[in-house]
Amino acid sequence: MKLNNLKDHEQIVDFATAVKTGLGNNQGLFFPAKIPQLQDIDHLLEMSTTARNFYILRHFVHENIDDDTLKSIIDKTFAFSSPLEQLNKQIYCLELFHGPTLAFKDFGARFMANCLQHFAKQQTGIKNTEKITILTATSGDTGAAVAHAFHGLDHIEVVILFPKGKISELQQKMFTTLSGNIRTVAVEGAFDDCQQLVKQCFDDQQLVQTVGLNSANSINVSRLFAQVCYYFDALAQLPMADREKSVLAVPSGNFGNLCAGIIAKTMGLPIKRFIASTNANDTVPRYLIDGVWAPNATVETLSNAMDVSKPNNWPRIEYLIESGQFDRNLLSGQAVDEVETAKTLKKLHHLGYVSEPHAAVAYQGLVGGSSDGLSDEEIGIFLGTAHPAKFKSSVEQILDVELPLPQAIADCAELPDLSTSIAPSFPALRAFLLT
Ligand SMILES: *Cc1c(COP(=O)(O)O)cnc(C)c1O
Repeated sequence: MKLNNLKDHEQIVDFATAVKTGLGNNQGLFFPAKIPQLQDIDHLLEMSTTARNFYILRHFVHENIDDDTLKSIIDKTFAFSSPLEQLNKQIYCLELFHGPTLAFKDFGARFMANCLQHFAKQQTGIKNTEKITILTATSGDTGAAVAHAFHGLDHIEVVILFPKGKISELQQKMFTTLSGNIRTVAVEGAFDDCQQLVKQCFDDQQLVQTVGLNSANSINVSRLFAQVCYYFDALAQLPMADREKSVLAVPSGNFGNLCAGIIAKTMGLPIKRFIASTNANDTVPRYLIDGVWAPNATVETLSNAMDVSKPNNWPRIEYLIESGQFDRNLLSGQAVDEVETAKTLKKLHHLGYVSEPHAAVAYQGLVGGSSDGLSDEEIGIFLGTAHPAKFKSSVEQILDVELPLPQAIADCAELPDLSTSIAPSFPALRAFLLT
C-alpha cells in the first residue's frame, strides 16, 4: 500500500520508506490515502488473534514484507495478550499493559522495531556499512517501550534522551539498565530541552547521514498499524450481539491510539462510536465543540503520558474525517480534571478494579454524566493503557493501598543505571552520537 504525505501531495512512498524515514517533507505525516475495507468481519473475529493480525497487517505492508517474514514479525510483536476485563454488566476494560514494559506502547514499538530490523537486514545485504540509529526523547513510557523493543536487534543502535532527575526512578531503571545496543543519556535540563536536541540532530544532514538517524515516536505510521489489531481483538472478545453497541473510550495524548481505533472502524469493525478522553490538556475536546483549534500551555497532571496540548496525530484523524472516510458525529470529547481523576480511581476501586490515572480518565468519559456518556443500550470499553504499578505512588496515595511491584520492574530496579549525563547542548550530544 502506498502512503501519502498529508502535507505534500507530491510525496507518495511505500511502507518501508515511511517506516525508515518517520516523517515526510515539510514535517508531513505519512498516511494511506484510502483505508482498505475488509469483508466478512464476523468471520475475522472468530479467527485466532495471530491469524487475524496477519490478515489485517498484510493489507498495509505486503508490498515490502513477504508473508513468512510478516508471520514471524507478528509472532515476535504480539507475544502477550490484551484481555477484556468485565467490570459490570455494561463496562469492560481492554487491558493493554501485559507487555514487557507494562504499557500499550509495547505493541507499536515492537512492531516498528521488528519491521525496521527486517528492512535494515535487506539493506545491509547490499551495503554493509549501512547503520541505523534510533534517537528518541522520553518523558517516561516511550523510552522503556522503545528500549525493550529494540534491545538486542542487529544493525540498529538506540539512543534515548531523558530529563535528568525529572522522571521516576523506576521509570528510569526500565530503560537505563539495558546494555548492548541501547545507550541512554540523562540531559541536565527539562523534557523540552531533550525534544529540542532531537530536532537539532535531525536538522544536521551530515549527522543524519553518518549515523542513519531515525525516530521512534508515534509519528511513525508502523506503530499505528500494529495498534489497529487490538481493537479487533477487543470486539472479538465481546458476545456477538454486543459488538455493534460498543463505545470505545480512549485516553488520549498524542492521539495515536484513537487514530488506530478510527482506522479499525474505517476498515469495517462495527464499533458504534468513540469518546476521546483527555486530562486538563483538552485541546481536542474543546475543538470538537467549537471548531476552534486553540492549544493552551501544557499543564502537568496525574496522567502525565497525556500531557500534550498539540497532539501530533490529530491531522491523521482530521484527514479521515475530511476525506469522508470517518463520520465526525461518531466522535465526542471529554476532558477530565485532576480532582475527577482521583475520584474516578476510587469509583473503579469500589467496583473491585485497581486502575491508574490514564485509564481512569477514559472510564470517566463513559460514565461522566455528559450527554455523550454511555446510554442504557450501549456497551462501554475503556482502554487500560498502563499497569497500575507504573504509577505506583499516585495510585497508592489516592487509593490507600499497597501495590506489589510486577516482576519486570522489580528485576530492573536491582540493576546498575548505565546512563551518561550531558549538558543540554547540541555539540555535546553530537559528539556522543559520533562515538
Ligand atoms: C502514551 C500514553 C497515552 C496516550 O496515548 P496517545 O496515543 O499518545 O494518545 C495514554 N496512556 C498511557 C499510559 C501512555 O503511555
